[in-house]
Amino acid sequence: MNGAIGIDLGATHIRAAIVLPDGELIGALRRVLPADPSTRRRAATDVAGELLARHPGHPVDAVGLAVAGTVDGGVLTWSANLGLDAVDFGAELRASTGRPTAVLNDARAAALAEARMGAGAGAATVLMVTVGTGIGGGLVIDGNVHTGTAHAGEIGHLVLDPDGPPCRCGHHGCWERLAGGVALDATAAELLPDGKSGAVALAAAASRGDTTALAAIQRHAREFARGLDSLCAVLAPHALVLGGGIIARPGPVRDAYLAATGTLRWHRGMIRTAVLGDDAGLLGAALAASNAS
Ligand SMILES: [Zn+2]
Repeated sequence: MNGAIGIDLGATHIRAAIVLPDGELIGALRRVLPADPSTRRRAATDVAGELLARHPGHPVDAVGLAVAGTVDGGVLTWSANLGLDAVDFGAELRASTGRPTAVLNDARAAALAEARMGAGAGAATVLMVTVGTGIGGGLVIDGNVHTGTAHAGEIGHLVLDPDGPPCRCGHHGCWERLAGGVALDATAAELLPDGKSGAVALAAAASRGDTTALAAIQRHAREFARGLDSLCAVLAPHALVLGGGIIARPGPVRDAYLAATGTLRWHRGMIRTAVLGDDAGLLGAALAASNAS
């Protein structure tokens, strides 16, 4: 069995590598994405071509792409982050590389990687929850990521408060608007002086002893646990894996979010934090591509 190229096309950067069957990365690269949408669109085929040209000694069977957006049958159908929609990345990569391809949402890719070779390895069902600007996720059953008709795993849009703040999806009070980075950003902008904003600034204020900031973080952590508990009631995963920037960054936000998982009524399995870091997306893309080849 040969390797597969894994590509992770995120909101600001693209990462890619040839992934060998044992998980070793060959030629890993990371680039800042160009601002121009038409150049962005070519970034995935460009890095795939570059890896193939630079590493002829590592045969590649397939090419996988993880992308920050909704995906249906190889087509990126919508991405608020990338400013792209209706891009048939599957066909473009297949045409440019001559290999079978797989395209999936980046949170689903991270879930697949953590379930197969990371924090959830060995568990029959793994729910991964990625808390970054938004909240993404993926359900992996017996090593396969569940996609349903296309978009299964859009857990950040679980509506917890219909009277809550508006969400980019069109609903109000979605989980990510109450517990994602975007919610922490909004709270920071509201509470902190001098126009400081962002989850990092809110965490810094709490660390300095700002009790209002700490109480706000704990309120968001309770919303985080509320969404998790609803998902666990429905899905009862053997392993719950928590990842993303909000969970990875040490400090009061991470501490509060992890502590809040101790209140879950419905979770009977294990809880782990993600272990694959920024490589999870490209690893999951390569795993999905290997399945497709
Ligand atoms: Zn929403």
